[in-house]
Amino acid sequence: MTVVTHSPAETQAFAHKLGQQLKPGTCIAFAGGLGAGKTTFTRGLALGMGLPDTVSSPTFALVNEYHGDGAVSMYHFDMYRVTSPEALETTGFWDYPLEDGVFVIEWAENITDALPAQTIRITIEPIDDTTRRITVEGGDFSC
Ligand code: ADP
Ligand code: MG
Repeated sequence: MTVVTHSPAETQAFAHKLGQQLKPGTCIAFAGGLGAGKTTFTRGLALGMGLPDTVSSPTFALVNEYHGDGAVSMYHFDMYRVTSPEALETTGFWDYPLEDGVFVIEWAENITDALPAQTIRITIEPIDDTTRRITVEGGDFSC
């Protein structure tokens, strides 16, 4: 599925619809460079999942957790600096409960070998300042 959005709000609205359809055990892997809109997209996902609107970049924390009453938890990773299996260990990646939650991974290209087979791949390509082409591969969504 490919959509073109023309503002951060439009990207979030699209992600919101996806977030409403996510089930525990889902892994989402982003491709797209700095400023593409991965964190913006993740904020929309969180809202769609019924989680708080407090999503920020996990760049320094490596992972941010979001929990909500009656909502599936989200584990939001930033793998920008994670370029070895040893570094991946230190993020605690293997200790988080994917079966009960949703993983959302920025810079997933750094941990390709560690991604579950069922991973949903989202590619965000900047077209200009406010336009993004977003491609979703894997998973079964209606938007
Ligand atoms: P990343 O996590 O990929 O580094 P961010 O989501 O942090 O990217 O930042 C994306 C930037 O691009 C924000 O400043 C946002 O306002 C801007 N932007 C402009 N147009 C869009 C769009 N259509 N979708 C998403 N972000 C957009
Ligand atoms: Mg980001």
